[in-house]
Amino acid sequence: MSKPIELTPEECATYEWQMWVRGFGEEGQVKLKGASVLISRIGGLGGVVAYELAAAGIGRLILAHAGNVKHSDLNRQLLMTHDWLGRPRVESARRRLLELNPRLEIDCLAQNVNAENAEALVAEADVVIDCAPLFEERYAMNYQAVAQQKPLIECAMYEMEISITTIRPGLTPCLACIYPAKPPAWRREFPVFGAVSGTVGCLAATEAIKVISGFGEPLYGQMLTADLRDMSIRKLSIKRNEDCAVCRGR
Ligand SMILES: [Zn+2]
Repeated sequence: MSKPIELTPEECATYEWQMWVRGFGEEGQVKLKGASVLISRIGGLGGVVAYELAAAGIGRLILAHAGNVKHSDLNRQLLMTHDWLGRPRVESARRRLLELNPRLEIDCLAQNVNAENAEALVAEADVVIDCAPLFEERYAMNYQAVAQQKPLIECAMYEMEISITTIRPGLTPCLACIYPAKPPAWRREFPVFGAVSGTVGCLAATEAIKVISGFGEPLYGQMLTADLRDMSIRKLSIKRNEDCAVCRGR
C-alpha cells in the first residue's frame, strides 16, 4: 500500500460519488487503488465481495476457487453465468470483473486455499477475506493471517442467517479463539438464497474498504449476526482466548 499512486482523470470521474463519503475522499481512493485483496472462494459470498471491490476501484484481487461452473452455482454465484457451465469458475469471474472494471489487476488460482498454498497467497495480500465453505480452509487462512499479521475478514451464512467479524491479529480474537474446534453443525452444502449470501458479501466488502482506507469502525472484537428471516441484527463482543493454539503470545 506504500507505492506512490495517483488517480487518472477517468478514475476520478468513476469514483466521484464515493469520494464524497465523509472520512474517505481522494486519499481513501488512492489507498484502494494501491491495495491487494485475497478472497478465498468466489461463490455466492466471495463473488459479491469481489464484484463490490472491483466496482469500488480496488487495485488488485487475488482469487482462489477450484472447479467448474455448475447449475447449482447459478442461484447465488453472480460471477458465474449460464453460458459458462462446465468451464472454470475463476475464468468466469475474471471475465465478469474485467467487464465491470478493466483497470483491475486479477490473479486467479483454480485451487481452494489449503495448508500448502495459504502462506504464499496471504503474503501477496494487504487484506484477506475468508468466504470458504470448509473449516479446514478457514483454519489454514487464519493460521497464515495471524502468522503474517494481516487483517482477516471472516464472513459466513446459513439459510437466512449471516455472521461477520474482522480479525486484526494481535488486537482481536482470531478464528481459532472463536472456534477452537470445527463447529459440529457446519456443513459443506446448505440452504441459502443469493440475496442472503450477497448481503454478507456487501458487508465484507464494506469492512475491507474501511480497513484499507482507515476510516469508520471495523468489526474489531465484535461479531455482527443477523437473521434475515425476521431482520433481527445484533453485535456481540468477542474476546481473545489467552490459551489459543494459533494466536497466543502474538
Ligand atoms: Zn486466537
